[in-house]
Amino acid sequence: MLTQNRKKNTRERHEQARQAESIFKASMKEEGYRCTQERLTVLREIYESDSHLDADEIFVRLKKKNISISRATVYHTLDLLFKFHLVNKIDLGHKHTHYEKSYGVGNHLHIICEQCDRVVEVHSDELNRILDTLCEQNGFSLGSFSLQVFAKCQSEGKKGKCNLKAIAEKH
Ligand SMILES: [Zn+2]
Ligand SMILES: [Zn+2]
Ligand SMILES: [Zn+2]
Repeated sequence: MLTQNRKKNTRERHEQARQAESIFKASMKEEGYRCTQERLTVLREIYESDSHLDADEIFVRLKKKNISISRATVYHTLDLLFKFHLVNKIDLGHKHTHYEKSYGVGNHLHIICEQCDRVVEVHSDELNRILDTLCEQNGFSLGSFSLQVFAKCQSEGKKGKCNLKAIAEKH
């Protein structure tokens, strides 16, 4: 059962990436940007990943795959992807911005541990409804959101410090 789910997820992710890529290509063409392989590799890297990457992490991952790209191109591409609504920017409480894919991904909340950086994504219809109401009450209609809440893991280690760092690092 588990294997089946995973296979399905892989297929879905692949399809999601393919669609995001065609939107990216069409948007670049429309706005007069050159559609380069480098730019497409940045998009693919983000859509292959389930984590929240920062620009440097993306740069390092691409370098490890022997893709020749400059840091500046990574930053510039991320700006483009954000402009075309293909990535969300997330503040994990670090000094830099993190990015995640947004095409085909529902609105969600990130609960972030202040001690170990563990991030859990929560999709909640209830939260959607609350935000929808709040927007309406203030004369808006709800668009998309990607929220952050800073918290502390409930499970603590011997020294009173969060002991889930090991789990967090797997993500
Ligand atoms: Zn970071
Ligand atoms: Zn923690
Ligand atoms: Zn997320």
